[in-house]
Amino acid sequence: MAHSCIMGDAMNIVLFGPPGAGKGTQATKIADGFGLLHISTGDILRAAVKDGAELGALAKTYMDKGELVPDEVIIGIIKDRIAQPDAKGGFMLDGFPRTIPQARALDAMLDESGSGIDMVVSINVDDAEILARVRERQRIEKREDDSEEVVRNRLEVYMRQTAPLKDYYENAGILNEIDGLGKIDEVFERIDAALSSV
Ligand code: AMP
Repeated sequence: MAHSCIMGDAMNIVLFGPPGAGKGTQATKIADGFGLLHISTGDILRAAVKDGAELGALAKTYMDKGELVPDEVIIGIIKDRIAQPDAKGGFMLDGFPRTIPQARALDAMLDESGSGIDMVVSINVDDAEILARVRERQRIEKREDDSEEVVRNRLEVYMRQTAPLKDYYENAGILNEIDGLGKIDEVFERIDAALSSV
């Protein structure tokens, strides 16, 4: 794909948005469309829980409550993952970073390898719509971490710890805000247009 990236050929992006913004669905379409490795910290943690790994047991205590796994744990996971050879061709981070310390750690590790984040795509959806969507998902998938209380907690955690990242990336000049309302393909078209300009 012919994308002119300031950092070279590989495009590295962060996909950002509140729980229920449709991030997972868009992530798959972006990874396929732009040939990017999809790195989802939520998926990595859920796989660790399933494997019965020590990391999984620790992570589960936080995930079950809708709280964030400690920064040092998640930063270690990302550091290992982006050091793998398959990440050299470009990657999309989904669910990371979620705190300012995570964003700083990411910048530092990419700096070290002479690369960086080319664009942060923020899928914007207002609070009322998010609650409606997450409730619908809870009804359909019966997700354990989607009980009413956990949902509320995840949203609160998002507002308090993750939303400030928008300012962080705005200041870095790489934030691209996308309207997350509309059909899946309509939202993807907006993302596609933004990423094609990288
Ligand atoms: P997700 O599938 O991205 O919503 O992640 C599910 C859960 O995994 C979250 O509610 C957190 O408990 C945990 N998690 C995923 N990514 C992170 C992260 N970057 N920092 C801390 N916790 C995370």
